[in-house]
Amino acid sequence: MTQGLAENLAKIAALTLPSLAVIDGELRPARAGGTFANISPRDGSLLADVAAGDAADVDIAVAAARRAFDDGRWRNLTAKAKKKILHRLADLMAAHAEELALLEAIDTGKPIRDAAAVDVPLACDSVRYYAEALDKLYGEVGPHHPGRLSYAVHEPLGVIGAIVPWNFPLHMAMWKVGPALAMGNSVVLKPAEQSPMTAIRVAELALEAGVPAGVFNVVPGLGETAGKALALHMDVDMIAFTGSGVVGRLLMQYSGQSNLKRVSLELGGKSPQIVFPDCPDMAAAARSAAWSVFYNQGQVCTAASRLLVHESIREAFVAEVVKVASRIEAGDPLDPATRFGAMVSERQMETALRYIGTARAEGADLRLGGGRVRDETGGFYVAPTIFDRVTQDATLAREEVFGPVLGVIGFADEAEAYRIANDTVYGLAAGVWTADLDRGMRATRALHAGQVWVNGWDADDITMPFGGFKQSGFGRDRSLHAMEKYADLKAVSFTIRGGGA
Ligand code: NAD
Repeated sequence: MTQGLAENLAKIAALTLPSLAVIDGELRPARAGGTFANISPRDGSLLADVAAGDAADVDIAVAAARRAFDDGRWRNLTAKAKKKILHRLADLMAAHAEELALLEAIDTGKPIRDAAAVDVPLACDSVRYYAEALDKLYGEVGPHHPGRLSYAVHEPLGVIGAIVPWNFPLHMAMWKVGPALAMGNSVVLKPAEQSPMTAIRVAELALEAGVPAGVFNVVPGLGETAGKALALHMDVDMIAFTGSGVVGRLLMQYSGQSNLKRVSLELGGKSPQIVFPDCPDMAAAARSAAWSVFYNQGQVCTAASRLLVHESIREAFVAEVVKVASRIEAGDPLDPATRFGAMVSERQMETALRYIGTARAEGADLRLGGGRVRDETGGFYVAPTIFDRVTQDATLAREEVFGPVLGVIGFADEAEAYRIANDTVYGLAAGVWTADLDRGMRATRALHAGQVWVNGWDADDITMPFGGFKQSGFGRDRSLHAMEKYADLKAVSFTIRGGGA
C-alpha cells in the first residue's frame, strides 16, 4: 500500500461499498427492508446503510445452509476438489488484497498499513492452512479385537453459526470460516454491525471461487436481532463466537433454551506482561510493552494491558515505555504513514475515556495521554495512555478496557509477580521477559493462560492453537485443533462373522 491518503480516498470513492446480505448464492437486502447505519470511525460520517438481517433472514440463510449440507454439494466433494476451491478463494482474496484492506481500514479505523500487512494476509493464511489440512486429519482404528473392526471418524457438524467482532473482522471471520468449511460444514456468518463490509465481500469472492451457493452465507445485522436469532435457531448445530463475555454468557443461555447447540467462546482478557530485572533486551521489552497494548488502538483480546515490572527497574523501564509510546501518534487510518488510528465507534471511545477517568479518580499516576485527540476530524481517536502505580484492586487492573490504556503494577519477587498475574477472572495470554531459562520455564507453568510467551508477545501464528483459560472462554481457533471443533467423532464397528471370539 504505497499510495498516499488522497489516492486511498479516491479508491474508496470508486468502490461500491458492500451493504447486502449474501444468502443462498445471492446478494439480497433484508427481507423486511431494514437497514442500519455503518459509520466511519475515521470522521464519524455515514459509509453506507447496510441490510439489517432479522430472524426471517436468518431463517432463510439457515435453511439454505441446511439444504446445501444435506444434498452434499460441498461436503461430498472430494478432498482434492474442496482444497482447490479454498485455494482459489485465498488467491482471490490475495488478488483483492488492496480493496479488502481499504474496506477494513475505513470500516474499523485501523491503520491501512496494518490492514494491508496483517489483517488481509493472515485471513488468507487461514484459508490456505485449512485448505491444506483438510486431507490430513485422520480417524482412528480401535485396538485389535478378534470379532470386530472398530474405527472413529470425524464428521462435519452441519450448519455453523459464526458470530464475530469488529477488531479484526476479516481475520476473525476466516479463523472460523476456514476450518468450518474445510471440515465440510455450511456456514452462516454474522459480522459485527460496526464492520460488516469485508465479510460480505469475501462471501462474494467465495462464490466466484466455486464455493457452492448456500454453503457460505453472510447475514449482517444487529447482535440482539440477527445474532440472537442465529444463536436461538433450532437448526444451527454450533455457534463459534469471538467477542465480549456478556454476549458469551447469553450464547450459552440461548443454546440451553434451544437445541443445545455446541458453543465455542473466545472472549476477552486482562493479560499481564512481566518484566524481570534480568530481561535480556530492555529496548525490545519496552517496545513490546507499548505496542502490545497500543496496537489496533488497544482493541485486541490479547492486549497486554497490565505491565508488571520489578520494583528495582520500574522507574527506568516505565520511562523507556513512555518514551516509545510518546512517539505513537494518532493519525488518519487511510494515510499509509499512520501506525495508530481511530477506535471503532463513538461508544468504544466513550468506554475508554470513562476508564481513563476512573483510573485518575482512583489515584493512578498518569504518565502519558489521557484523552481524546483529533476531535476536529469528527473521528473517534484516543491518545495512547499510560498509568503507573496502579494497584491490583484498581478498576484498571481488573476490567478489560479494550482501548489504548496501559496500567503499570510493581512487584517485589517472582512469586508475587505470578500471584498478581493470575489474580484475574481472565486467562487469555501472559508473557514474561527474563534471561533465566529456569525462570522462563517456571513462568510458563505458573501462569494460567491459553498463550504464554517468553521474551516476546503474540509470537504465534496459524499453526498454534489460540484460546482462553477461565473466563476468557473455551474452544480453540487456529491449528488442527480448530478443525476438531467443527466435527463430531463417530465410532463405527463392523462385526466380523467367523472372525473369532
Ligand atoms: P459484543 O460481544 O457485543 O459483539 C460481538 C458480536 O456479538 C457482534 O457480532 C455482535 O453483533 C454480536 N452480538 C451482540 N449481542 C448479541 C446477542 N444478544 N446475541 C448474539 N450475538 C450478539 O462486543 P461489543 O459490544 O462490540 O464490544 C464490547 C466488548 O467486547 C469490548 O469492549 C471488549 O471487551 C469485548 N470484545 C472482545 C473481543 C475479542 O476479541 N475477544 C472483540 C470485540 C469485543
